[in-house]
Amino acid sequence: MRQPIIAGNWKMNNTIAATKALLTDLIPLVADAKAEVVVCVPYTNIAAAGELVKGTNIKLGAENVHWAEKGAFTGEISADMLVELGVEYVIIGHSERRQYFGETDQTVNARVKAALSKGLKPIICVGETLEEREGGIVEEVLVRQTTEAFKDIDKDQLENIVIAYEPVWAIGTGKTATAQDANDTIAIIRNTMAKLYCEKCAEEKVRIQYGGSMNPKNASELMAMPQIDGGLIGGASLKAVDFSQVVKY
Ligand code: PEP
Repeated sequence: MRQPIIAGNWKMNNTIAATKALLTDLIPLVADAKAEVVVCVPYTNIAAAGELVKGTNIKLGAENVHWAEKGAFTGEISADMLVELGVEYVIIGHSERRQYFGETDQTVNARVKAALSKGLKPIICVGETLEEREGGIVEEVLVRQTTEAFKDIDKDQLENIVIAYEPVWAIGTGKTATAQDANDTIAIIRNTMAKLYCEKCAEEKVRIQYGGSMNPKNASELMAMPQIDGGLIGGASLKAVDFSQVVKY
């Protein structure tokens, strides 16, 4: 019903030469994957990566997009620019953007709208910090982030959007949420989507990934959980063999 989707988030890693080497190794390793496979790469690598994945089952993604169509936003990249390079998915609201670059629930929503208006598929990241978890406000944070991200987004768009639940304390730390905990927390997000849209839409159309130190060792346990529809993979997406093992959990 909900096709699993595994996406790599390369972050600020890999030159063009490294991109070519990694993708050349990865393409045959994931050619028979049942999950949808996406690589989200730095802007400078999109053109080269796009050439390499053409005609394969790997889809191209970016790591951010600006909310304006064009204009005086030095250093930013628009949805049209990504579409022109064959980008299909775009990560929006990653916790590193929220933490280091002033991303807010409102800018996330603006970027989601801009992406959708040009046919890009957003991967919207939500997740609590360690402080918020210890403060017992996980549900409050996730309901707020989800509700704000989907403000004024039409029900028809739900199948073009992926949500990534990424507990901030699990990103790049080697600490993974237990499969049960990730599942139960994702259920909160799905329940929020059911309230915002409808029960059936949340059940059938909304794909929710887990992200946070997911790797070849823990992927199958996480992916076996009924609420988890995929993974957003940082560190383990930088090695072809590791990423392929996650993709084929
Ligand atoms: C991420 O950056 O989205 C992520 C989940 O990173 P890692 O897999 O390295 O924890």
